[in-house]
Amino acid sequence: DFARPPSPQPQPVPLAHLLEEAVRTATVDQPRLRVEWALEPDVPPLPMDARMMRQVFLNLALNAVQAMPQGGTLRIRVHRCHTRTGALVEFTDTGPGIPPGLHERLFEPFFTTKATGTGLGLAIVRRTLHAHGGHISIESPPTGGTTFRVRLPL
Ligand code: ADP
Ligand code: MG
Repeated sequence: DFARPPSPQPQPVPLAHLLEEAVRTATVDQPRLRVEWALEPDVPPLPMDARMMRQVFLNLALNAVQAMPQGGTLRIRVHRCHTRTGALVEFTDTGPGIPPGLHERLFEPFFTTKATGTGLGLAIVRRTLHAHGGHISIESPPTGGTTFRVRLPL
């Protein structure tokens, strides 16, 4: 229900645990996919609604997997955010990338380029992150590949 903003029930959650769950779910039966982890050890548990954030990470991981039907590498990086207290989580894939003109449109409900896509994944991701005081941005260089960068406050 998009008319109703989500209201998270935050509890301290270890990020790595949620991420591992989501990435494992998204990558089962994907033998041509490599997963690389870069987890900084000094990221404290963050106040998050675990159920909602599991959905966020699953959506991002599924999009990355779907962008690499021929296989590739999914890299997940977690590190402390130094400009604002919190954490940064990056999902980087080696798929075709996203043209800059589309970056904002991807977050619109029902925007999809997939034959059977719902176009709801990133809309839900952004709403959920905003409800947590967080933020999401895209980086997609002309050479290909995409990074979705999530910032979560402490
Ligand atoms: P859906 O996955 O159902 O299409 P999303 O909201 O999750 O809906 O994504 C919207 C669109 O954003 C996708 O259809 C695709 O065009 C683009 N997209 C999302 N993630 C990626 C990615 N990692 N690489 C390339 N394109 C992406
Ligand atoms: Mg999706």
